[in-house]
Amino acid sequence: MLRSAPESDARDPANPARPIAGANATPGANATSDLSGGAGTADSEQPWQARAAVQVDGALPPAELPRDLLLEVFQHARECYPEECCGLLTGSEAEAPSRVVRCTNVQSARAARGESDLGARRAFWIDEQELFNALRGAEQRGERLVVIYHSHVDTAAYLSFTDLEGALGPDGLPLYAGVAQLVVSVQESGALGAALFEWDESARRFRGRAVR
Ligand SMILES: [Zn+2]
Repeated sequence: MLRSAPESDARDPANPARPIAGANATPGANATSDLSGGAGTADSEQPWQARAAVQVDGALPPAELPRDLLLEVFQHARECYPEECCGLLTGSEAEAPSRVVRCTNVQSARAARGESDLGARRAFWIDEQELFNALRGAEQRGERLVVIYHSHVDTAAYLSFTDLEGALGPDGLPLYAGVAQLVVSVQESGALGAALFEWDESARRFRGRAVR
């Protein structure tokens, strides 16, 4: 079980924007290539499936996102490579998301301060002031937060155990109710695809769908 120390101890209760964070590796692991399979015994060489708390459920129909927004997220992921990108999709209450809000991944700064073992290649942490401003800006436009996105570098689009810990509060429910998690798989050559993870209220867990 790849249970790890949650990063939630760094949460600032005074900040109304709850930090958004996650990682695609087990904290402490200096992962190399996630596509290398499970030949080794070191944690970093485990297949990505071992780090995945939630994978795409092939039995579910694909999720649809506005094409222009998805392409912009792909572009963001490519520009940030080989680090993880992160950001938000916002939109009006009734409609599909209509705006990409790029955010800064400050994970490397956190690692430099000793707050995490993982750099920005293996984890993300949205700059908290940017997050606060983005949420306030959305509210002023009459929009809400619809999707939180980040990329996985040289590995698949899944929700890692650390992603899950970052997305859930101590009560085991999403910190941001009704907000989906979008994960983009990116390599140097570009984005390979994406998966959308939505909270299933009755099952009390995220379920993953491929994005088209
Ligand atoms: Zn992740």
